[in-house]
Amino acid sequence: MRIKRVIAKQINFPMGGDMWNPAMAFSAKEVVFVFVVTDNDIIGVGEIWSFYGSTRAVVDIINHDFAPLVRGEDPHFIERIRERIGGLAPIGTMEGVMMNALSGIDLALWDLRAKILNVPLYQLLGGYSDRVYTYASGGLYGRDKSIDDLASEVRGYCESGFSGVKIKVGGLPQRDDLERIAVTREAAGPDCRVMIDALHAYNVPEALSLAKKAQEHNIYWFESPVALTDTKGHSIVNKRSGIPVCANESLQGCRAFKNLIDQRAAEFVHLDLCVCGGITEGLKIAAVAEAHDLRISLHAANTVCLFSTSIHFAASVPNCDSVENHQVHRLLSDYAPIATMELQDGPYVSPLDMPGHGMEFLTPDFVDSLNKEIAEGLYESKK
Ligand SMILES: [Mg+2]
Repeated sequence: MRIKRVIAKQINFPMGGDMWNPAMAFSAKEVVFVFVVTDNDIIGVGEIWSFYGSTRAVVDIINHDFAPLVRGEDPHFIERIRERIGGLAPIGTMEGVMMNALSGIDLALWDLRAKILNVPLYQLLGGYSDRVYTYASGGLYGRDKSIDDLASEVRGYCESGFSGVKIKVGGLPQRDDLERIAVTREAAGPDCRVMIDALHAYNVPEALSLAKKAQEHNIYWFESPVALTDTKGHSIVNKRSGIPVCANESLQGCRAFKNLIDQRAAEFVHLDLCVCGGITEGLKIAAVAEAHDLRISLHAANTVCLFSTSIHFAASVPNCDSVENHQVHRLLSDYAPIATMELQDGPYVSPLDMPGHGMEFLTPDFVDSLNKEIAEGLYESKK
Protein backbone atom coordinates (compact mmCIF):
# COMPACT_ATOMS: atom_id res chain seq x y z
CA MET A 1 0.00 0.00 0.00
CA ARG A 2 1.33 3.40 -0.98
CA ILE A 3 0.38 7.03 -0.45
CA LYS A 4 -1.00 8.48 -3.66
CA ARG A 5 -2.14 11.94 -2.61
CA VAL A 6 -1.42 14.60 0.02
CA ILE A 7 -3.46 17.77 0.13
CA ALA A 8 -3.85 20.63 2.62
CA LYS A 9 -6.95 22.80 2.73
CA GLN A 10 -7.62 25.89 4.83
CA ILE A 11 -10.82 27.02 6.51
CA ASN A 12 -11.25 30.47 8.04
CA PHE A 13 -14.03 30.18 10.58
CA PRO A 14 -15.70 33.52 11.36
CA MET A 15 -15.55 34.23 15.11
CA GLY A 16 -17.13 37.68 15.32
CA GLY A 17 -14.28 39.43 17.17
CA ASP A 18 -16.21 39.82 20.44
CA MET A 19 -13.94 37.59 22.51
CA TRP A 20 -10.27 37.90 23.19
CA ASN A 21 -7.35 36.68 25.23
CA PRO A 22 -4.27 38.69 26.24
CA ALA A 23 -2.70 38.08 22.83
CA MET A 24 -5.49 38.50 20.29
CA ALA A 25 -9.15 39.06 19.50
CA PHE A 26 -10.86 36.24 17.67
CA SER A 27 -12.23 37.67 14.46
CA ALA A 28 -11.50 34.39 12.68
CA LYS A 29 -10.05 31.02 13.50
CA GLU A 30 -7.80 29.68 10.77
CA VAL A 31 -7.52 25.92 10.49
CA VAL A 32 -5.68 23.70 8.04
CA PHE A 33 -6.64 20.09 7.43
CA VAL A 34 -4.20 17.68 5.82
CA PHE A 35 -5.49 14.66 3.94
CA VAL A 36 -3.14 11.78 3.19
CA VAL A 37 -4.77 9.28 0.83
CA THR A 38 -3.57 5.76 -0.03
CA ASP A 39 -3.81 4.03 -3.40
CA ASN A 40 -6.81 2.11 -2.07
CA ASP A 41 -8.51 5.35 -1.00
CA ILE A 42 -8.10 5.22 2.77
CA ILE A 43 -7.86 8.80 4.07
CA GLY A 44 -5.85 9.93 7.10
CA VAL A 45 -6.70 13.37 8.47
CA GLY A 46 -4.44 15.76 10.35
CA GLU A 47 -4.98 19.27 11.60
CA ILE A 48 -2.88 22.39 12.12
CA TRP A 49 -3.44 25.64 13.87
CA SER A 50 -1.56 28.68 12.81
CA PHE A 51 -2.36 32.35 12.50
CA TYR A 52 -3.01 34.80 9.74
CA GLY A 53 -0.49 34.79 6.89
CA SER A 54 1.35 31.84 8.37
CA THR A 55 -1.68 29.63 7.73
CA ARG A 56 -1.43 30.24 3.99
CA ALA A 57 2.28 29.45 4.22
CA VAL A 58 1.52 26.12 5.91
CA VAL A 59 -0.89 25.15 3.11
CA ASP A 60 1.67 26.13 0.48
CA ILE A 61 4.50 24.23 2.17
CA ILE A 62 2.45 21.05 2.39
CA ASN A 63 0.97 21.15 -1.10
CA HIS A 64 4.13 22.23 -2.92
CA ASP A 65 7.10 21.07 -0.86
CA PHE A 66 6.09 18.22 1.47
CA ALA A 67 3.53 16.39 -0.71
CA PRO A 68 6.04 15.24 -3.38
CA LEU A 69 8.20 13.72 -0.63
CA VAL A 70 5.29 11.83 0.94
CA ARG A 71 3.66 10.54 -2.26
CA GLY A 72 4.71 6.99 -3.09
CA GLU A 73 5.78 6.21 0.49
CA ASP A 74 4.55 3.31 2.62
CA PRO A 75 2.29 5.01 5.24
CA HIS A 76 3.65 2.82 8.06
CA PHE A 77 7.11 4.40 7.76
CA ILE A 78 6.32 7.61 9.60
CA GLU A 79 9.80 8.25 10.99
CA ARG A 80 11.31 7.75 7.53
CA ILE A 81 8.80 10.15 5.98
CA ARG A 82 9.58 12.69 8.69
CA GLU A 83 13.27 12.34 7.97
CA ARG A 84 12.68 12.93 4.25
CA ILE A 85 10.71 16.09 5.07
CA GLY A 86 13.36 17.17 7.57
CA GLY A 87 15.91 16.91 4.78
CA LEU A 88 14.30 20.00 3.23
CA ALA A 89 15.63 22.02 6.13
CA PRO A 90 19.00 20.49 6.92
CA ILE A 91 20.42 23.48 8.75
CA GLY A 92 17.91 24.13 11.45
CA THR A 93 14.92 25.80 9.87
CA MET A 94 12.47 22.97 10.62
CA GLU A 95 10.74 25.31 13.04
CA GLY A 96 7.80 27.67 12.93
CA VAL A 97 5.42 27.05 10.04
CA MET A 98 7.61 24.20 8.75
CA MET A 99 7.06 22.34 12.02
CA ASN A 100 3.35 23.18 12.02
CA ALA A 101 3.11 21.66 8.53
CA LEU A 102 5.06 18.58 9.60
CA SER A 103 2.76 18.20 12.63
CA GLY A 104 -0.29 18.05 10.37
CA ILE A 105 1.28 15.44 8.10
CA ASP A 106 2.31 13.36 11.12
CA LEU A 107 -1.20 13.46 12.62
CA ALA A 108 -2.71 12.42 9.29
CA LEU A 109 -0.25 9.52 9.00
CA TRP A 110 -1.10 8.19 12.47
CA ASP A 111 -4.83 8.40 11.73
CA LEU A 112 -4.17 6.66 8.42
CA ARG A 113 -2.14 3.84 10.02
CA ALA A 114 -4.86 3.20 12.60
CA LYS A 115 -7.48 3.09 9.85
CA ILE A 116 -5.39 0.68 7.77
CA LEU A 117 -5.01 -1.58 10.81
CA ASN A 118 -8.67 -1.02 11.72
CA VAL A 119 -7.99 -0.05 15.35
CA PRO A 120 -8.73 3.06 17.41
CA LEU A 121 -5.73 5.38 17.51
CA TYR A 122 -5.15 5.02 21.26
CA GLN A 123 -4.88 1.25 20.90
CA LEU A 124 -2.33 1.59 18.12
CA LEU A 125 -0.32 3.95 20.31
CA GLY A 126 -0.47 1.50 23.21
CA GLY A 127 -3.46 2.05 25.46
CA TYR A 128 -2.98 3.17 29.05
CA SER A 129 -6.49 4.22 30.04
CA ASP A 130 -9.94 4.19 28.50
CA ARG A 131 -10.83 7.59 29.92
CA VAL A 132 -9.08 10.94 30.15
CA TYR A 133 -9.48 13.83 32.59
CA THR A 134 -10.56 17.04 30.87
CA TYR A 135 -11.05 20.51 32.26
CA ALA A 136 -13.23 23.36 31.06
CA SER A 137 -11.24 26.06 29.35
CA GLY A 138 -12.87 29.45 28.92
CA GLY A 139 -12.90 32.63 30.94
CA LEU A 140 -11.99 34.72 27.93
CA TYR A 141 -12.41 38.47 27.89
CA GLY A 142 -15.49 39.65 26.06
CA ARG A 143 -17.30 42.70 24.84
CA ASP A 144 -19.83 43.67 27.54
CA LYS A 145 -18.84 40.60 29.59
CA SER A 146 -19.31 41.42 33.28
CA ILE A 147 -17.77 39.79 36.33
CA ASP A 148 -21.19 38.22 36.99
CA ASP A 149 -21.13 36.75 33.49
CA LEU A 150 -17.78 35.14 34.31
CA ALA A 151 -19.19 33.71 37.55
CA SER A 152 -22.19 32.18 35.81
CA GLU A 153 -19.95 30.84 33.04
CA VAL A 154 -17.81 29.05 35.65
CA ARG A 155 -20.84 27.76 37.56
CA GLY A 156 -22.17 26.37 34.29
CA TYR A 157 -18.97 24.42 33.70
CA CYS A 158 -19.11 22.90 37.16
CA GLU A 159 -22.80 22.05 36.84
CA SER A 160 -22.10 20.20 33.60
CA GLY A 161 -19.61 17.91 35.38
CA PHE A 162 -16.22 19.61 35.18
CA SER A 163 -14.00 19.73 38.26
CA GLY A 164 -11.39 22.01 36.69
CA VAL A 165 -11.72 25.45 35.12
CA LYS A 166 -9.18 27.64 33.33
CA ILE A 167 -9.49 31.37 32.75
CA LYS A 168 -7.32 33.96 31.06
CA VAL A 169 -5.33 36.58 32.95
CA GLY A 170 -2.98 39.28 31.73
CA GLY A 171 -5.47 41.16 29.58
CA LEU A 172 -6.57 43.66 32.23
CA PRO A 173 -4.88 45.58 35.08
CA GLN A 174 -3.80 43.27 37.89
CA ARG A 175 -6.56 44.36 40.25
CA ASP A 176 -9.23 43.40 37.71
CA ASP A 177 -7.64 40.04 36.95
CA LEU A 178 -7.35 39.28 40.66
CA GLU A 179 -11.07 39.99 40.99
CA ARG A 180 -11.72 37.59 38.10
CA ILE A 181 -9.62 34.91 39.82
CA ALA A 182 -11.45 35.40 43.14
CA VAL A 183 -14.85 35.23 41.47
CA THR A 184 -13.82 32.10 39.58
CA ARG A 185 -12.71 30.37 42.79
CA GLU A 186 -15.90 31.38 44.56
CA ALA A 187 -18.11 30.14 41.69
CA ALA A 188 -16.13 26.93 41.27
CA GLY A 189 -16.11 26.04 44.95
CA PRO A 190 -13.19 24.89 47.10
CA ASP A 191 -12.59 21.49 45.48
CA CYS A 192 -12.41 22.52 41.83
CA ARG A 193 -9.09 22.99 40.06
CA VAL A 194 -8.70 26.64 39.06
CA MET A 195 -6.04 27.39 36.45
CA ILE A 196 -4.89 30.73 35.09
CA ASP A 197 -3.38 31.33 31.64
CA ALA A 198 -1.48 34.55 30.90
CA LEU A 199 -0.54 33.66 27.34
CA HIS A 200 2.92 35.20 27.86
CA ALA A 201 1.51 38.59 28.90
CA TYR A 202 3.79 39.32 31.87
CA ASN A 203 7.42 39.88 32.64
CA VAL A 204 8.88 38.04 35.63
CA PRO A 205 8.19 40.70 38.33
CA GLU A 206 4.62 41.12 37.10
CA ALA A 207 4.04 37.36 37.08
CA LEU A 208 5.47 36.98 40.60
CA SER A 209 3.38 39.90 41.83
CA LEU A 210 0.16 38.45 40.45
CA ALA A 211 0.99 34.97 41.74
CA LYS A 212 1.68 36.26 45.24
CA LYS A 213 -1.82 37.69 45.47
CA ALA A 214 -3.51 34.86 43.55
CA GLN A 215 -2.01 32.13 45.75
CA GLU A 216 -4.71 32.44 48.40
CA HIS A 217 -7.18 31.12 45.81
CA ASN A 218 -5.33 27.81 45.53
CA ILE A 219 -4.38 27.95 41.85
CA TYR A 220 -3.62 24.58 40.26
CA TRP A 221 -1.30 25.99 37.61
CA PHE A 222 -0.03 29.28 36.17
CA GLU A 223 0.13 28.81 32.42
CA SER A 224 2.55 30.62 30.09
CA PRO A 225 3.31 33.40 32.58
CA VAL A 226 6.12 35.12 30.62
CA ALA A 227 7.46 35.35 27.06
CA LEU A 228 7.62 32.08 25.15
CA THR A 229 11.34 32.49 24.57
CA ASP A 230 12.08 33.28 28.22
CA THR A 231 12.70 29.78 29.59
CA LYS A 232 14.74 31.17 32.48
CA GLY A 233 11.85 33.48 33.34
CA HIS A 234 9.46 30.52 33.36
CA SER A 235 11.89 28.74 35.64
CA ILE A 236 12.02 31.64 38.08
CA VAL A 237 8.22 31.86 38.19
CA ASN A 238 7.95 28.10 38.63
CA LYS A 239 10.40 28.08 41.52
CA ARG A 240 9.42 31.29 43.31
CA SER A 241 5.76 32.01 42.66
CA GLY A 242 4.26 29.28 44.82
CA ILE A 243 2.10 28.21 41.86
CA PRO A 244 3.26 25.40 39.54
CA VAL A 245 3.90 26.62 36.01
CA CYS A 246 2.34 24.95 32.96
CA ALA A 247 4.30 25.57 29.73
CA ASN A 248 4.40 25.83 26.73
CA GLU A 249 1.73 25.08 24.15
CA SER A 250 3.65 26.82 21.34
CA LEU A 251 6.96 25.02 21.81
CA GLN A 252 8.13 22.78 18.99
CA GLY A 253 10.30 19.68 19.02
CA CYS A 254 11.37 17.45 21.89
CA ARG A 255 14.68 19.28 22.25
CA ALA A 256 12.92 22.56 23.07
CA PHE A 257 10.86 20.71 25.67
CA LYS A 258 13.98 19.04 27.04
CA ASN A 259 15.48 22.49 27.53
CA LEU A 260 12.32 23.61 29.36
CA ILE A 261 12.44 20.52 31.56
CA ASP A 262 16.22 20.73 32.16
CA GLN A 263 15.71 24.24 33.53
CA ARG A 264 12.71 23.07 35.58
CA ALA A 265 10.68 25.80 33.95
CA ALA A 266 7.39 23.94 34.33
CA GLU A 267 5.74 21.34 36.53
CA PHE A 268 3.16 20.61 33.84
CA VAL A 269 4.60 20.05 30.35
CA HIS A 270 2.09 21.61 28.01
CA LEU A 271 2.05 20.52 24.38
CA ASP A 272 -0.17 20.88 21.35
CA LEU A 273 -0.04 18.03 18.87
CA CYS A 274 -0.75 20.42 15.96
CA VAL A 275 2.30 22.49 16.83
CA CYS A 276 4.91 20.42 18.66
CA GLY A 277 5.60 18.07 15.74
CA GLY A 278 2.63 15.71 15.84
CA ILE A 279 2.07 12.45 17.66
CA THR A 280 5.55 11.11 16.91
CA GLU A 281 7.15 14.14 18.56
CA GLY A 282 4.51 14.25 21.30
CA LEU A 283 5.37 10.71 22.40
CA LYS A 284 9.02 11.70 22.72
CA ILE A 285 8.11 14.81 24.72
CA ALA A 286 5.90 12.74 27.03
CA ALA A 287 8.75 10.27 27.51
CA VAL A 288 11.24 13.04 28.39
CA ALA A 289 8.71 14.42 30.88
CA GLU A 290 8.15 10.95 32.35
CA ALA A 291 11.89 10.51 32.82
CA HIS A 292 11.77 13.61 35.02
CA ASP A 293 8.62 12.54 36.88
CA LEU A 294 6.61 15.31 35.26
CA ARG A 295 3.11 15.15 33.90
CA ILE A 296 2.03 16.47 30.55
CA SER A 297 -1.16 18.26 29.60
CA LEU A 298 -2.52 18.69 26.10
CA HIS A 299 -3.47 22.06 24.68
CA ALA A 300 -6.53 21.71 22.43
CA ALA A 301 -8.17 24.90 21.19
CA ASN A 302 -9.02 24.32 17.58
CA THR A 303 -11.47 21.81 16.10
CA VAL A 304 -13.07 18.63 17.40
CA CYS A 305 -10.52 16.70 15.32
CA LEU A 306 -7.64 17.94 17.47
CA PHE A 307 -9.69 17.30 20.61
CA SER A 308 -10.40 13.70 19.62
CA THR A 309 -6.78 13.12 18.60
CA SER A 310 -5.61 14.57 21.92
CA ILE A 311 -7.94 12.27 23.88
CA HIS A 312 -6.53 9.24 22.02
CA PHE A 313 -2.98 10.43 22.67
CA ALA A 314 -3.66 11.14 26.35
CA ALA A 315 -5.23 7.70 26.77
CA SER A 316 -1.99 6.13 25.56
CA VAL A 317 0.56 7.73 27.89
CA PRO A 318 0.90 7.06 31.62
CA ASN A 319 1.84 10.57 32.69
CA CYS A 320 -0.94 12.72 31.27
CA ASP A 321 -2.63 15.09 33.70
CA SER A 322 -5.37 16.40 31.44
CA VAL A 323 -6.70 17.47 28.07
CA GLU A 324 -8.08 20.96 27.53
CA ASN A 325 -11.81 20.83 26.86
CA HIS A 326 -12.24 24.24 25.29
CA GLN A 327 -15.68 25.69 25.64
CA VAL A 328 -15.22 28.28 22.88
CA HIS A 329 -12.76 26.75 20.42
CA ARG A 330 -14.54 23.46 19.72
CA LEU A 331 -15.07 23.96 16.02
CA LEU A 332 -17.02 21.32 14.06
CA SER A 333 -18.14 19.50 17.21
CA ASP A 334 -21.68 19.47 15.75
CA TYR A 335 -20.47 17.14 12.99
CA ALA A 336 -18.65 14.59 15.16
CA PRO A 337 -20.16 11.59 16.98
CA ILE A 338 -21.80 12.76 20.22
CA ALA A 339 -19.44 10.56 22.26
CA THR A 340 -16.43 12.57 21.03
CA MET A 341 -16.86 15.26 23.68
CA GLU A 342 -19.34 13.57 26.00
CA LEU A 343 -18.49 13.89 29.69
CA GLN A 344 -18.64 10.74 31.83
CA ASP A 345 -18.29 10.37 35.60
CA GLY A 346 -17.86 14.13 35.82
CA PRO A 347 -15.05 15.48 33.68
CA TYR A 348 -13.80 12.36 31.89
CA VAL A 349 -13.91 11.72 28.15
CA SER A 350 -13.25 8.36 26.49
CA PRO A 351 -11.46 7.88 23.17
CA LEU A 352 -13.83 6.91 20.38
CA ASP A 353 -14.05 3.20 19.71
CA MET A 354 -13.64 3.68 15.96
CA PRO A 355 -10.69 3.24 13.59
CA GLY A 356 -8.22 6.13 13.74
CA HIS A 357 -9.29 9.23 15.65
CA GLY A 358 -12.85 8.71 14.46
CA MET A 359 -13.49 11.96 12.57
CA GLU A 360 -15.00 10.25 9.54
CA PHE A 361 -16.90 13.35 8.41
CA LEU A 362 -13.67 15.16 7.56
CA THR A 363 -12.95 14.80 3.85
CA PRO A 364 -11.64 17.20 1.18
CA ASP A 365 -15.21 17.52 -0.15
CA PHE A 366 -16.50 18.41 3.34
CA VAL A 367 -13.93 21.21 3.61
CA ASP A 368 -14.84 22.53 0.15
CA SER A 369 -18.56 22.62 0.94
CA LEU A 370 -17.94 24.28 4.33
CA ASN A 371 -15.78 26.93 2.68
CA LYS A 372 -18.62 27.59 0.23
CA GLU A 373 -21.07 27.98 3.13
CA ILE A 374 -18.71 30.42 4.87
CA ALA A 375 -18.16 32.43 1.66
CA GLU A 376 -21.92 32.73 1.20
CA GLY A 377 -22.43 33.81 4.82
CA LEU A 378 -24.42 30.68 5.60
CA TYR A 379 -22.12 29.24 8.26
CA GLU A 380 -23.90 29.65 11.58
CA SER A 381 -22.07 27.71 14.27
CA LYS A 382 -19.61 29.81 16.23
CA LYS A 383 -18.17 26.78 17.92
MG1 LIG B 1 -2.72 28.64 26.88
